This record gives sequence, structure tokens and C-alpha cells, in this order.
Amino acid sequence: THFGFSTVAETDKAGLVRQVFDSVAGRYDLMNDVMSAGVHRLWKASLIDSLRPRTGERLLDVAGGTGDIAFRAMAAARRAGDNRQPHRPDLRVTVCDINAEMLRVGAARAESRGCGDIDFVCGDAEALPFPDRSFDAYTIAFGIRNVTRIDAALEEAFRVLKPGGRFFCLEFSPAVVPALKAAYDRYSFSVIPRLGGWITGDRDSYRYLVESIRRFPAPERFAAMIGAAGFDRVKVRGMSMGVVALHGGVRL
Ligand code: SAM
Repeated sequence: THFGFSTVAETDKAGLVRQVFDSVAGRYDLMNDVMSAGVHRLWKASLIDSLRPRTGERLLDVAGGTGDIAFRAMAAARRAGDNRQPHRPDLRVTVCDINAEMLRVGAARAESRGCGDIDFVCGDAEALPFPDRSFDAYTIAFGIRNVTRIDAALEEAFRVLKPGGRFFCLEFSPAVVPALKAAYDRYSFSVIPRLGGWITGDRDSYRYLVESIRRFPAPERFAAMIGAAGFDRVKVRGMSMGVVALHGGVRL
């Protein structure tokens, strides 16, 4: 492949990730639905249920790409919020992503949905462009496995959260249940790159995405890394037979 996946050095990872998401940005949302048969919507709904966004809060969605988590969080806050002002949810959401092309697609979606109150900010999860203690909640969905130094990203999450702030990470997990493993591997390594090739014209980007799931730490190890970054009450919940894990923690 032109990326040479098996030999890619960690230092090249940021450039590779940029290339992957530049390439798929325009068709990213369609691909999510096709590849997961729509199930990514349920995984994201579980994240929003655990997050319980409330009016008056400030939420930071890192690696937020085309804004999916932001839109869902705003809708949930609106449902939970003050019925006298149904069109003015006071949840303030900032989407931060390293890829300007993904953000551009997200900002266009926000505009077409009339969600003018989401900020789209270009920045790196490892060095967030925000002051200390500025958010009530931090989310990262299907993003952290693309980050080069995961521990640096977790420390940054801790830094930008206010005391009492909640941290949530939704990510594919390498710990699928043994009964599913053979079929899952076949689907991941054969079907996903082919589907990606047809829909986005870039099979190699989808090979990279599958490979990055295999390299991501198992849920217990990742939970320990979250604790090491300073978070308390670290919890993990496996979903869809271990295909996805939702981790949570609190900055006390
Ligand atoms: N959160 C969105 C969702 O669930 O649909 C998008 C997830 S997409 C699989 C991964 C995103 O992570 C891409 O938009 C990519 O640009 C972003 N990303 C990769 N490395 C990053 C980094 N170091 N800092 C911030 N964003 C990053």
C-alpha cells in the first residue's frame, strides 16, 4: 500500500492521520452508517446518555470531526432543558479537531441545521488551545486511537476540565469476545477496506483505521491510563460484544 501500514513510525502517525481524514471527510458520515449498519448511532446515544448534558454547561468534544457528538449533545440538553425556551439550549459546545477539512464539513452541517452556537476550533488533542479548568465535560468519540501520544491527550483532558468535570471516551476496542473474533476480523480486514474503497475511493485509509483498532490498548489498560492522568471514579463499559468500549472518569 502507499502508506506502508506495518512499518509506519509513530512520528509519521500525525501526517498519516491527517491524510486519511482529508481524504474521507466529505463521505465520512455516510461511511459511518454503512460500515456499522447504523449501529454507531446507538454507541453515540449511549455516550450521550452517560454524559447527561445540561443547559448552562460547557462541553468540549475533541476529535469531533463533522460534529456528530455536538449535535446529539445539544439535542439532549434541549430535551432535558427549560421548555419555556426550547430553541435556546444554553449548552455551549466546542468541537475541536486537528483536521480543517472535517471541521469544514461539520460547520456546513451546523449551518444547514441552524445550530449556529457550536464553535469549531482547529487544534491538537495533545496540546489543546484552551485555558485550564474551562469545561464541565470532555468527550472524545472514535478519536483517541488516532492520537500519537494518548497519555498527553488524557493529561490535556484533565487540565481543561473544571473540578467536578466529566470525561468520556468512546472507542473501538481490540477486546471483542472470542466467539465473534473470526467473523469480526474477516469483516474488518476484508469488507471494510473494500467498502471504503467503493464509497470514498480510498481503500488504504480504511485499512489504516482497522489497523489502528488492533493497536489500541485493551479496556483495562486504557482505564489505568485514564487513572494515571489524574481522573477518579474511572469506569468502563463494553458494548456490542466488546467491539466498542465507553470509558468515563471525573476530575475531582
Ligand atoms: N468524533 C467524530 C465521530 O465520532 O463521528 C469523528 C471521529 S473520526 C473517526 C476521528 C477524528 O479524529 C478525525 O476527525 C481526525 O481528524 C481527528 N483527530 C485525529 N488526531 C487528532 C488529534 N491529535 N487531535 C485532534 N483531533 C484528531
